[in-house]
Amino acid sequence: MSHPATESVCPTDDPLESLAATLFRPMGSDGVYARTALYEDVVERLGAFISRERDPRAEILRFPPVMSRHQLEKSGYLKSFPNLLGCVCALHGSETAIRAAADSHEAGGDWTKSLAAADLVLSPAACYPVYPIAASRGRLPSGGLLFDVAADCFRREPSRSLDRLQSFRMREFVRIGTPQEIVAFREQWMTRAQGLASELALPGALEVANDPFFGKLGQIMAVSQRQHSLKFELLIPYYATAKPTACMSFNCHLEHFGEIWGIHDSAGQVAHTGCVAFGMDRLAVALFSNHGTDVSRWPASVRQALAF
Ligand code: ATP
Ligand code: ZN
Ligand code: MG
Repeated sequence: MSHPATESVCPTDDPLESLAATLFRPMGSDGVYARTALYEDVVERLGAFISRERDPRAEILRFPPVMSRHQLEKSGYLKSFPNLLGCVCALHGSETAIRAAADSHEAGGDWTKSLAAADLVLSPAACYPVYPIAASRGRLPSGGLLFDVAADCFRREPSRSLDRLQSFRMREFVRIGTPQEIVAFREQWMTRAQGLASELALPGALEVANDPFFGKLGQIMAVSQRQHSLKFELLIPYYATAKPTACMSFNCHLEHFGEIWGIHDSAGQVAHTGCVAFGMDRLAVALFSNHGTDVSRWPASVRQALAF
């Protein structure tokens, strides 16, 4: 998708422009927005709606917007999506060195030249930190583990399109267990998600998908991911003629994280993992674009689902 440069939150030929003015305030960078009370109320209600679907056995963890750089490197993120990663950098060194670097800005210089990478990255997805936590507990209990996680995520994909933010909220249910447990978990969620979309009166369609792996090698990885149906997405159009937006994803990682972190199931086999991810901001925008900005006029079933 290409996006003409304008001063507004999204392009003038975009039918979502007036929506953007109601839901967001610009913050000087594409895909990074202040959220209005109207919008945030719907995001919170959506969060509660998803919580009602949570398996009571799930362990709840809420992650900050940053995570260990070492853990993300070890997860293989740099092989797959180096272009999307944001890394925390800071001024290090003596007082004199830090003062000189900071003051160079006042003198018209480039203080960022003195930055050095810290031990943190901006989390690109909510589930990465959960695997080392699970691994630290030793062998999985029989029946495996289930988590409910969430984080503010960052991906360096600036866009004026309301469905592609650089900073967005992701909620996930993560399953760690035997291959059969992961397959069953994902199957169950793909069915349930379609039910949830219809409760929200959103026209959702489930499709096999691939991650946007980086570069030429990435194209091969994407083909293989599709061939093995390792990723599905629930696609929702924002308006009648719009290209549908992926609002949820259903991912099977096979033994990728189990091997990296040394997670073993109760029988001693390398654990498999899978996750179902809810794009909270994409779902909220989908609700407003499909049902309008006056929540009192949303369909009764939607109002009921969101406890208005
Ligand atoms: P896309 O193909 O649209 O880039 P993705 O495959 O990168 O999506 P996932 O990695 O599966 O998405 O992320 C889980 C969910 O997070 C997505 O289904 C979507 O709802 C949400 N999401 C991903 N990227 C963004 C973004 N840039 N802005 C807002 N939400 C996003
Ligand atoms: Zn995940
Ligand atoms: Mg993407």
